[in-house]
Amino acid sequence: MKPTNLRTDEFKISKGNIVKVNFIKHASLFFEINNYIIHVDPVSEFADFSAFPKADLILYTHDHYDHFCANAVEHILTEKTEIICTLEVETALKNLNIKNSIKVLKNGEIAEISIPDVEFSILAVPAYNTTQTQFHPKGRDNGYVLMIDDIKFYIPGDCEDMPELVEHQDYEVVFLPVNQPYTMTIDQCVNAVQMMRPKVFYPIHCGDTDINVLMDRLKDIKGTEVRLCDM
Ligand code: ZN
Ligand code: ZN
Repeated sequence: MKPTNLRTDEFKISKGNIVKVNFIKHASLFFEINNYIIHVDPVSEFADFSAFPKADLILYTHDHYDHFCANAVEHILTEKTEIICTLEVETALKNLNIKNSIKVLKNGEIAEISIPDVEFSILAVPAYNTTQTQFHPKGRDNGYVLMIDDIKFYIPGDCEDMPELVEHQDYEVVFLPVNQPYTMTIDQCVNAVQMMRPKVFYPIHCGDTDINVLMDRLKDIKGTEVRLCDM
């Protein structure tokens, strides 16, 4: 079950399978691959998580309050839910007495996920501030690349236009956060999209960013479809 007013975009992978991306708010998303549910940074401040499907897998990019909260995880957890996260999130989960399988990935590490009929692995990538706003020091937090059959989704965590982004060119889908001082300025976002050249780009984690200015600045980038999703 999921709320009917939720925005869902679909992407075809091989063998007629489809990946559905459901947009909740800010950095909270969930993916559906057939009946396998992956929640990303679930946070109850933005939505009632009792209304969403239970998670087979939860990904946490870091432990800031707008990416991790105790309430949301309680609503979507089952005994079988697996969790991939950072060291700080693992500590927070253990403090909640959560006994599920928790795998900590460092930047550069990969987890293989077993789903029938689909090849699926997750690469943890750096997510950090490059300017003087050191909310996110290098090496602590994760972004994630979801490699699902032949297509890739880039989940950024909180970051600016890090040089590493150039290693993730031509993906099917890229999400990037746009709200300085925590994440990217509009200029940094435009630079990042130009570096990454995804087929589809979604601005997320937008805070008070002027979306009209952002959309205007992105409209001349060739080969990338920019989709607004109220995040
Ligand atoms: Zn953060
Ligand atoms: Zn954040």
